[in-house]
Amino acid sequence: MTAPTITGYAARDAGGPLEPFAYEPPALGDDDVRVSVTHCGVCYSDVHLIEGRYGVFDFPLVPGHEIVGHVSDIGAAVSALKVGDRVGIGWQGRSCMRCEWCLQGEEQLCVDVVKNGTWTPYGGFSSSVTVDGRFAYPLPDSMPSETAAVLMCAGLAVYAPLRAYAQGDRPRVGIVGVGGLGHVAIQFAHALGHEVTAISSSPQKEREARDFGADHFLLSTDKAALKRARFAFDLLLCSAHCGIDWDYLLWILDRRGRLVLLGFPELTMDSVDLVVHEVSVTGSFVGNRAHMREMLAFAHEHHITPRVELMPMSRAEEAMRRVRENQARYRIVLVNDTAA
Ligand SMILES: [Zn+2]
Ligand SMILES: [Zn+2]
Repeated sequence: MTAPTITGYAARDAGGPLEPFAYEPPALGDDDVRVSVTHCGVCYSDVHLIEGRYGVFDFPLVPGHEIVGHVSDIGAAVSALKVGDRVGIGWQGRSCMRCEWCLQGEEQLCVDVVKNGTWTPYGGFSSSVTVDGRFAYPLPDSMPSETAAVLMCAGLAVYAPLRAYAQGDRPRVGIVGVGGLGHVAIQFAHALGHEVTAISSSPQKEREARDFGADHFLLSTDKAALKRARFAFDLLLCSAHCGIDWDYLLWILDRRGRLVLLGFPELTMDSVDLVVHEVSVTGSFVGNRAHMREMLAFAHEHHITPRVELMPMSRAEEAMRRVRENQARYRIVLVNDTAA
């Protein structure tokens, strides 16, 4: 029996455009599920991925890791899901389940990280993906698919560090960058009861940032305002990719405060404030499965609603260009118009 052919959108080489790409579905392992993709969000790390920035992935490369769809086939050992279930899939499509990190429930730190991305071998800009069923999450019935898609990467990426590092009664949290991740981070931080400041270089984002739940807005090009904000933050989540004045972020962070990087910006910083104020700079990488389940329930209960632009998947290349040029307001979700 010949397996059905899958249609996706792939970059054939690093930096290449996304073009239609047909391939045979990967083998279905005992713990795997196949998911017929209805929606897939576009994350800035998809841009880095097809640019070849991480240097460890093979081309042709089908990106996409904010996936919602329906289970179409299950492996012999899968009992938690059945054909027809609506599920979400994020950055991580599998893990070894045996290393010290997986055994602690911190699967995002699995020693096999390079093999674990949902786009290995093929991601969600496609009619179908195959992942380990333990990384496909049932979704609340009334949650719209485009909302769920964005939560699978952006939602988890901001929720996990807020849960890990926002401490105390009403921590003062700054969200640096009001984009795909930032606008979701503002909503979660607000719903968690934190005092939230949106920090952006675009004055025109103030109004929407406040609508998303920001108590304050700090214009990062306003040096006088930054000067007044000395020691004003316990926690800063940095979702911006470029144009970041690191020394000012350390300036506005309180003693023993923490700066968390969510993306992969270029990083240079002065060590004086870092050392003298005992500040921490931390990376945060997606989140674990427990955080994913908790995040979905929390988002559902608190009506976290990413602002989404829908585009047909056949325009994946145009969507990618808009994300690369920071034109998306605030997240593009591709709706599958090619799936069987
Ligand atoms: Zn992502
Ligand atoms: Zn592992």
